[in-house]
Amino acid sequence: MRLVLVGPPGAGKGTQAEFISAHLGVPKISTGDIFRANVSQGTPLGQQARAYMDAGDLVPDEITVGMVQDRLAEDDAGKGFLLDGFPRTVPQASTLDDLLLQAGTPLDVVLELVVDDDEVVRRLSGRRTCRNCGHIWHIDFDPPSTEGICDSCGGELFQRDDDKPDTIRHRLEVYYEQTSPLVGYYAEQGILVGIDAMGPVDDVTGRAIDALRRYGQ
Ligand code: ADP
Ligand code: AMP
Repeated sequence: MRLVLVGPPGAGKGTQAEFISAHLGVPKISTGDIFRANVSQGTPLGQQARAYMDAGDLVPDEITVGMVQDRLAEDDAGKGFLLDGFPRTVPQASTLDDLLLQAGTPLDVVLELVVDDDEVVRRLSGRRTCRNCGHIWHIDFDPPSTEGICDSCGGELFQRDDDKPDTIRHRLEVYYEQTSPLVGYYAEQGILVGIDAMGPVDDVTGRAIDALRRYGQ
């Protein structure tokens, strides 16, 4: 199955992507994770992306699309994939459509995670991510049993540089201006499914999996 998750920063895309990709048996491809790995390894791609990420802006499409194209060409994506954080602009979405149509493998479904802005701010302000395995925690809503340590792998937890109050507000503006038009774009294609993403993580996962059952998964 070929699936995209859309929603504002903090909607829970990364959290749900972990469960849904395991349920579907397809790789989770997060452009934010790929950019962060490149930044921490100091690669040329990371050096290009860093200033945009720190400011809460989108990395230019020319850089992002090529990176995704390379990732989708890897073997594991042949059986399907779950995209988290891509596409984020209409030009990215239309380039993705072109690529997939050429390969005869169009998207099956786009899940939109719907949350309100206050909840986004609460979620992002307390987000902690494992440096080792990438698992996502929250200091109040899903705290690890020992502060700063990942229960899944023992790795160190860190707070993302772009999860500061001013940057969070800016990222929300960027979402409404540049990314939210994707909701209409995919609705027109008849592949958009809205999911209520308020409430506990397990409830949201249940709603997402129920929606996918309607697509035979
Ligand atoms: P996104 O990938 O959309 O930016 P994340 O999956 O990283 O969002 O989630 C943002 C923060 O919110 C994380 O700290 C995560 O633990 C927390 N979170 C995710 N889903 C929920 C939920 N349903 N209820 C409460 N907190 C959540
Ligand atoms: P995320 O982890 O999805 O919240 O992404 C973190 C940051 O990476 C974003 O604020 C952008 O700077 C950059 N980024 C991730 N995905 C994209 C994308 N599809 N297009 C442009 N920039 C992106």
